[in-house]
Amino acid sequence: MALEFRSVTKTFTTNSGDLLTAVKDVNFVVNEGEFVSVVGPSGCGKSTILSMTAGLYQPTQGEVLVSKERVTGPNSHVGFMLQKDLLLPWRSIVANIEFGLEARGVAKAERRERALRELRHCHLNGFENQFPYQLSGGMRQRAALARTLAIDPEIILLDEPFSALDAQTKLLLQNSFAKTISETGKTTLLITHDLAESVLMSDRIIVLSERPGTIVAEIKVDLPHRDQPIKRRMMPEVSEYAAQLFKHLKLEEKAA
Ligand code: ADP
Ligand code: MG
Repeated sequence: MALEFRSVTKTFTTNSGDLLTAVKDVNFVVNEGEFVSVVGPSGCGKSTILSMTAGLYQPTQGEVLVSKERVTGPNSHVGFMLQKDLLLPWRSIVANIEFGLEARGVAKAERRERALRELRHCHLNGFENQFPYQLSGGMRQRAALARTLAIDPEIILLDEPFSALDAQTKLLLQNSFAKTISETGKTTLLITHDLAESVLMSDRIIVLSERPGTIVAEIKVDLPHRDQPIKRRMMPEVSEYAAQLFKHLKLEEKAA
């Protein structure tokens, strides 16, 4: 098993000194090589779950395990990527991809070789010497994925990586990420508010309630083509899964 949340509760103290429970008693497991999405309404604690997996926050109660070891801080087992690409504007694309390797003390020649390999893997050949401002939003996100993969983490965490893109770019990028990630075989946790995206990209979906986020459902997506969201998009079953998610999130009641 690659990732486990055991009875995890996270309570923050707000600036005004109040206690705010973001997630409550969350239990789940992600198996090796699995692609799992976490969906739920805005503010329900999705990013908090990602931050605790990455070791950026500690749970208030319970524990998070990566490869059966308790997460106590940021570590090289986990690579994460946020909605905003956070590429360094003064570095070329290849130098951005190398950044995490540099921080880990990997020697220059190996760094360059690994960065160029991930650059090709993410279909950015020919763009190594460009700067982030010269790339489209979708290409920048591919560069950010290449940077995440370059450190060769056991688990990849993605926090709404497609949410700032237009619909077509988004579908193409979902397809490109799915293909690249499937090729690596890496365990992946995708945080998203996009219900269709979770059906198109995952093996399993964890559905959270409104804050404090608790798990209200876990849905196994029994469809082929996990590595090709565009193909899945054409399958009639996709809307049945979306309808299940609507029900668990009580969207019809809320609309009434
Ligand atoms: P989501 O990603 O699902 O939109 P978040 O995990 O970002 O939700 O946030 C869940 C709740 O926790 C929100 O109400 C948010 O304001 C609060 N929160 C998140 N991080 C902090 C923090 N560092 N300090 C205080 N409150 C926080
Ligand atoms: Mg968030």
